[in-house]
Amino acid sequence: SSTLLNVNDLSVCYRTAARQVIAVNRLNLTVSPGEFVGVIGESGSGKSSLARAILRLLPANGKQTGGSIRFQDRRLEHLDDAAMTKVRGAHIGFVPQQPVAALNPVRSIASQLGEIFRLRLGVDSRQAYDMSYDILRQVKMGDIDRVLHAYSHELSGGMCQRVLLAMAVALSPFLLLADEPTTAVDARMRGELLDEITRQQKDRAMAVLLIAHDLPLVGRYADRLVVMYRGSLVETGAAHIIYSQPKHPYTRLLLGLDRDRKFFDIERLQDHSGCEFQPRCMYAQPSCRHEKPAWQGDEQVGWACILK
Ligand code: SF4
Ligand code: MG
Repeated sequence: SSTLLNVNDLSVCYRTAARQVIAVNRLNLTVSPGEFVGVIGESGSGKSSLARAILRLLPANGKQTGGSIRFQDRRLEHLDDAAMTKVRGAHIGFVPQQPVAALNPVRSIASQLGEIFRLRLGVDSRQAYDMSYDILRQVKMGDIDRVLHAYSHELSGGMCQRVLLAMAVALSPFLLLADEPTTAVDARMRGELLDEITRQQKDRAMAVLLIAHDLPLVGRYADRLVVMYRGSLVETGAAHIIYSQPKHPYTRLLLGLDRDRKFFDIERLQDHSGCEFQPRCMYAQPSCRHEKPAWQGDEQVGWACILK
């Protein structure tokens, strides 16, 4: 098929002392080869759980409780750990949320980057160093000699993030999965980092699944957007269409529309029989309290709201 990643009806739960928390609720998502898909939502919307489920890096109390994750026609959840380790890095590159924490503070960048080539490609240290230099050049890192000899605390958040991008694309993956890559980066650098991710996407014909809360920013880069609220898909479609004609009130909120009217920002207690967004929604109808809105459209373009 022409789909690279196919997440079908995925549910993820966390066990806590008191109860089960549903982090991802029957989510559908596809990524085609070379496509840039943005997954948008606030913190707590289940975006990171989605990323960790795809990579099979859920914490010990987290579990995929339903659905399937297909990557290149293989069910990822059926792979053993060795096969999954191979997929991670070689086929799916991952840029984690906390760039400084993701790097080892007591090893140089050269050692950490070079390790990927030594372990995965079996090259010697000299070749690994040259390949590390080359991959940093490819992601437009400045001052490469200094960076390679540096430790993570000697680099800015933006430089650490660029190192992690280099690590993620080092083995030429088919898919780059990035979880809030711009969080630790100052505002000016955010656009530069997304420019670089887009350049890598085009140069390598690599697909990108970018997870973020900043819809106005990511909407400028992504081909397609997936908007999540409390673990569920609320709207999906071409980025430029969602950007100009958002259908779901939550998408409108993320785009900063309706400023003259007021969305409720404190989530009030609710019964869960109705629309999840109802307690915050200024378009809510009486029926929204008790009926879940039906999905309108199809898997590629649609929204979960009674509004047309
Ligand atoms: Fe708002 Fe009702 Fe649409 Fe939910 S279904 S987002 S409450 S209008
Ligand atoms: Mg997160």
